[in-house]
Amino acid sequence: MNVIFFGPPGVGKGTQAARITQRTGWAHISTGDMLRQQVKDGTALGTRVNDYMQKGLLVPDELVIEMFMERLAGLRRDQGFVLDGFPRTIVQACALDDALARRGKSIDIAVNIHASDAVLMQRMMGRASESARLDDTPEAMRVRLEKQKPPPDLLDHYRAAGKLRDIDGQPDMETVTSAIIEALGVANATT
Ligand code: AMP
Repeated sequence: MNVIFFGPPGVGKGTQAARITQRTGWAHISTGDMLRQQVKDGTALGTRVNDYMQKGLLVPDELVIEMFMERLAGLRRDQGFVLDGFPRTIVQACALDDALARRGKSIDIAVNIHASDAVLMQRMMGRASESARLDDTPEAMRVRLEKQKPPPDLLDHYRAAGKLRDIDGQPDMETVTSAIIEALGVANATT
């Protein structure tokens, strides 16, 4: 299956994407992880995106789209995937639709995980104290929370296609994973 996980920063979409892909064998594609790696490796792309990421802002569409397309092109044709953090804008969504259509594919389900701002801030602070993520400064967290909720037009794009499933991200990790598995209908999936 080809799945997107939407959700505000801190909702646990990365954690849930990892749990689901471990279980299903699908590829976990996190543009945030890919971009952080570019910064760490000091590549030309990393140098260009560093400032946006440190400030908690979205990286320009063309840069993310190009990086993402290379990753997509490297997947086996029959490989299922979970997109974690892409698309973030309607421009990215249209580029994704086109690229998948060229491969005779499409997104099957978009999971929209939501939680209150208070829970999101608490989770981001918890993660910041456990990891040394470059973009987990309090100021960047505040900006991300304000600017990086999935925009309504992006969610509507998938809702209009009948592909959006809303999931409550506030309960414990296991409960959220079960709800996602049910929404995807993959209780016994292996591909
Ligand atoms: P994430 O780990 O998904 O929260 O992403 C971390 C940071 O990477 C974000 O705050 C953005 O600066 C950047 N980023 C990741 N994915 C995208 C995307 N699809 N479009 C634009 N910026 C992105």
